[in-house]
Amino acid sequence: SNTIPTKQTDGNGKANISPDKLDPKVSRVLPEVKPGYLKPLIPDAAPEKPEKWQDVMQDIERVIMPGVTHWHSPKLHAYFPTANSYPAIVADMLSGAIACIGFTWIASPACTQLEVVMMDWLGKMLELPAEFLACSGGKGGGVIQGTASGSTLVALLGAKAKKLKEVKELHPEWDEHTILGKLAGYCSDQAHSSVERAGLLGGVKLGSVQSENHRMRGAALEKAIEQDVAEGRIPFYAVVTLGTTNSCAFDYLDECGPVGNKHNLWIHLDAAYAGSAFICMEYRHPMKGIEMADSFNFNPHKWMRVNFDCSAMWLKDPSWVVNAFNADPLYLYPKHDMQGSAPDYRHWQIPLGRRFRALKLWFVLRLYGVENLQAHIRRHCNFAKQFGDLCVAHSRFEPAAEINMGLVCFRLTDTLVVQEIIGRK
Ligand code: PLP
Repeated sequence: SNTIPTKQTDGNGKANISPDKLDPKVSRVLPEVKPGYLKPLIPDAAPEKPEKWQDVMQDIERVIMPGVTHWHSPKLHAYFPTANSYPAIVADMLSGAIACIGFTWIASPACTQLEVVMMDWLGKMLELPAEFLACSGGKGGGVIQGTASGSTLVALLGAKAKKLKEVKELHPEWDEHTILGKLAGYCSDQAHSSVERAGLLGGVKLGSVQSENHRMRGAALEKAIEQDVAEGRIPFYAVVTLGTTNSCAFDYLDECGPVGNKHNLWIHLDAAYAGSAFICMEYRHPMKGIEMADSFNFNPHKWMRVNFDCSAMWLKDPSWVVNAFNADPLYLYPKHDMQGSAPDYRHWQIPLGRRFRALKLWFVLRLYGVENLQAHIRRHCNFAKQFGDLCVAHSRFEPAAEINMGLVCFRLTDTLVVQEIIGRK
């Protein structure tokens, strides 16, 4: 139940809420609570004496559920979805019970090695080029990050380290500060805000390239690069979005890839939402040109039945990232830095500690099988198509952008109604 009653507390600071206020049949998606609702419902400090399990569990209903937004309700129509399933929940509980920290291989070999293999399984499901997979025996491999934002930042930092080394070799007379001040990265004006943030966090300038029908074209990217070069800047990184947040539009990877390669840029692919659809052959067309990318990322936690957090990232040459973050204190020894088969994943991410996330990927892939995950994606894409057809057929609605994957952007055609709604605000 999401109903939150007015504050009524007993002597212990706990709210007395009549059971009828907790009617499970009242299933609002958005809670009715106001900011600050929770604090008065629980004591101001931790209890000196242990409490009973029953009391704690009861407080889930009393304190927590009234403030939960129900992302898994069929009535939730906000944001991109977040995935969930019983296999993922059970695996996450096991991960919590095992409670290992997998920052190095020796810190928990199963945690690292299952992740290597799962990232190969998943990469094969998407038909990623072999260079991205650890099983190819090359430099490449995958890692599970917490979020797409983290992946974009990690890729940017790897790209920055790579360009810094290249420019230093060409211009030994330039100091690091001078080079960093000249670096220029790119993304489309439709890219997710996390890309802009990665630039801010990485201390480099990221330019926004004007999109055409919400998609970045190779010529526009090239123009931006050439202008920067003419002004003395050093292009180093471009994010190509496969499935934008606004409208699930796909940048032209087959055009941007060659431009990026020609100018020696690191190309990072952000397919946070749409990437799950690439497990179906018929939805793989936006990946054309993927062999020109350096890193690729999507979130199984958005659409592939794996609950948050599970953001899959592959790197063709992780050594740039590994070297960019390499601090090697003695207390984290012994090292088993055999890239590919047993990486020390702490070097592939920003935090040191890492959860056993591969377990939930393993459970989901085994308990559904690829064919059921594909059916799940196809079902959602068909819903979007059906809904799009209804919008087209309806006299007062129309699609506002091309319908891609499971996202339909639609608008009212009746301008008077639109003006009335805007006026009311
Ligand atoms: N990139 C794109 C294209 C997105 O749509 C989103 C979120 O919807 C993100 C990045 C950010 O994802 P995360 O919350 O995993 O950082």
